[in-house]
Amino acid sequence: MSKQKNFETEAIRTQTERSQFLEHSNPIYLTSSFVFEDAEDMRASFAEEKERNIYSRFTNPNNSEFVDKICKMEGAEQGVAFATGMSAVFSTFAALLNAGDHIVSARSVFGSTHGLFTKFLPKWNITTSYFKIDELDKIESLITKNTKILYAESPTNPAVDILDLELLGSIAKEHNILLVIDNCFATPYLQNPIKFGADLVIHSATKLIDGQGRVMGGVTVGRADLIREIYLFARNTGPALSPFNAWVLSKSLETLAVRVDKHCENALKIAEFLESHGQVNIVKYPFLKSHPQYVLAKKQMKAGGNIVAFEVKGGVEAGKKFLNALAICSLSANLGDTRTIVTHPASTTHGKLSKEDRLETGITDGLVRVSVGLENVNDIIQDLDQALKSS
Ligand SMILES: *Cc1c(COP(=O)(O)O)cnc(C)c1O
Repeated sequence: MSKQKNFETEAIRTQTERSQFLEHSNPIYLTSSFVFEDAEDMRASFAEEKERNIYSRFTNPNNSEFVDKICKMEGAEQGVAFATGMSAVFSTFAALLNAGDHIVSARSVFGSTHGLFTKFLPKWNITTSYFKIDELDKIESLITKNTKILYAESPTNPAVDILDLELLGSIAKEHNILLVIDNCFATPYLQNPIKFGADLVIHSATKLIDGQGRVMGGVTVGRADLIREIYLFARNTGPALSPFNAWVLSKSLETLAVRVDKHCENALKIAEFLESHGQVNIVKYPFLKSHPQYVLAKKQMKAGGNIVAFEVKGGVEAGKKFLNALAICSLSANLGDTRTIVTHPASTTHGKLSKEDRLETGITDGLVRVSVGLENVNDIIQDLDQALKSS
């Protein structure tokens, strides 16, 4: 095997085999199926004696290219691509768990993942125990003989808290359970959980990997034996990523490093601006010195990411007023776009939770989440400033 190249080079130069046309940029393989040379070729392909494409629910050259890139970026052995981040999350649990199995997870997880743990997996008698992100010392007491997976996100959504991945890795190893990390907020450019002991890493590619708010996608990468189980589950149940979306996402990865560098630079400037603003109570950004896990963030991340959380003085009403006064920033559910997006979790994504439950995930009434985009940072700052003044 050739020596691993640097991140940006792998992102740009990893490519599916060229066709006879010797195209420079990889074409889109919009085809449901692939043809066989003869009956023996067909038999051997189905018997998996040959590695080749059969049907796009199983594999497709665009999907393989996308997965190969993510594997190189995350230092993973193998991976599977999915239609969305949630289909990656669901398929990972569904493929690896049996009835009666148990998950130990951080309470601060993506809303739909929380829904999966509390509404759907219990239908198959798969249960979840939560730990608070500031109580990692309680994790071991939650592990039972049925526990199979330890699950977490870092940074968390929307409060950008940081979990100690190395500690989670050592707990998982000690108890012989799998560590699965949703690495969506960090991207493979800023953080590689496998280095800290994760067995599997999941991404919603819809976010910074696409980075331009266009397509949805997801991916799970990690240990080859586990990926094999997840692949067989996906092959039979059909959450396949569209080849078109895979092409878009693979192209997006070519610019991930430069985009994320700029996102992080803008986000840090905005976090510093907010920290000095009279209408703002608390600002949370992993690479601000005032962040409670600043040292840990510096240890496990290359930069702080593009999400800044802060609290507008005056609670829910002030939060809403602030949102209504924004002139450039979008009010939208996505994150990780070129366009700056502002949300108010207490009145939207987390509006159905009780105030207590919200506080457990770090969401106070006035908390605002900014997904910092790639506009000129001075324009974003000006927009935030004028909206804060009218809040
Ligand atoms: C968005 C998101 C998901 C789900 O991804 P989709 O592509 O929307 O299905 C999962 N985890 C995190 C942390 C996310 O931000």
